[in-house]
Amino acid sequence: MKIGFIGLGNMGAPMAANLVKAGHDVVGYDTAAHPDFLIMAMSAAEAVRGAEVVITMLPNGAILRAVAEEIIPAMEPGAVLCDCSTVDVESARAVAAQAETAGLMAVDAPVSGGIGGAAAGTLTFMAGCTDEAFAKVAPLFEIMGQKAVHCGGSGAGQAAKICNNMILGISMIATCEAFALADKLGLDRQKMYDVVSTSSGYSWTMNAYTPAPGIGAKSPADNDYKPGFASELMLKDLNLSQMAAEAVDADTPMGRKAAELYRRYVEEEEGRGKDFSAMLPRFEKRHRGK
Ligand code: NAD
Repeated sequence: MKIGFIGLGNMGAPMAANLVKAGHDVVGYDTAAHPDFLIMAMSAAEAVRGAEVVITMLPNGAILRAVAEEIIPAMEPGAVLCDCSTVDVESARAVAAQAETAGLMAVDAPVSGGIGGAAAGTLTFMAGCTDEAFAKVAPLFEIMGQKAVHCGGSGAGQAAKICNNMILGISMIATCEAFALADKLGLDRQKMYDVVSTSSGYSWTMNAYTPAPGIGAKSPADNDYKPGFASELMLKDLNLSQMAAEAVDADTPMGRKAAELYRRYVEEEEGRGKDFSAMLPRFEKRHRGK
């Protein structure tokens, strides 16, 4: 397949590499990165010319909108614009509407699985689009990932992503504050893990990504909290969940609190560049009500 790939950063570059390895004809464009395994175009519009599918993997919704403005008029009628970035639901829907008006198909397909999943080709894609568009891009998801869920119409992929990550942020905070409380109660961390991981408090953050060094699953906690999934990326996703909640008047008190805690941790404390599970040492150092 002839593919245009725009945004070749930490995630985009390994995703594009997997498409090239699978034999696809990929032309890339990025304002800063120049991976040597790809044919690079001089502009975004040039990268998409003649492509059946265009994949974007960009930092945010404003950049996606600007790139979409440039590439949509240059794309072949009937081609698919597949955005894999994590962006606000409103931008995803606006870009899809613009693409459809121009006679294109549009997919919002954010991913989970991080940089490791992108390199290994084991990402999970959550897609918002028509059945026809999903059928066209599904073979590419199979190369870049291990699972793709067709979540509904446009924006549904982004909605699934931010709801999932809102649960993830809240449950990481719950797991970390419980470990810090257990410490102060004199409860051994291993015993705490043995009980909770097999009781009703179990969760992905406790069982699969244990935030306490040397306990439970191997995780960034065992590597001095190097990401992994950086706190600032968790903050980005929690902020998107709160933007969405605001737009549709949804009550998300725990999501709001989690966003505020990660904002403080990243902007006012030492959270930037640390894995999002480093909330545990943060809570360890703190006292009640401060
Ligand atoms: P990144 O910053 O490493 O890559 C983004 C790339 O886009 C950069 O190379 C940048 O130069 C390029 N870019 C910026 N503006 C551009 C423009 N106008 N035209 C062309 N290229 C442009 O970010 P990343 O970690 O690869 O993340 C990409 C997206 O994936 C984000 O939306 C992020 O939230 C999401 N995501 C990231 C992870 C992760 O673990 N890193 C996990 C899941 C989802």
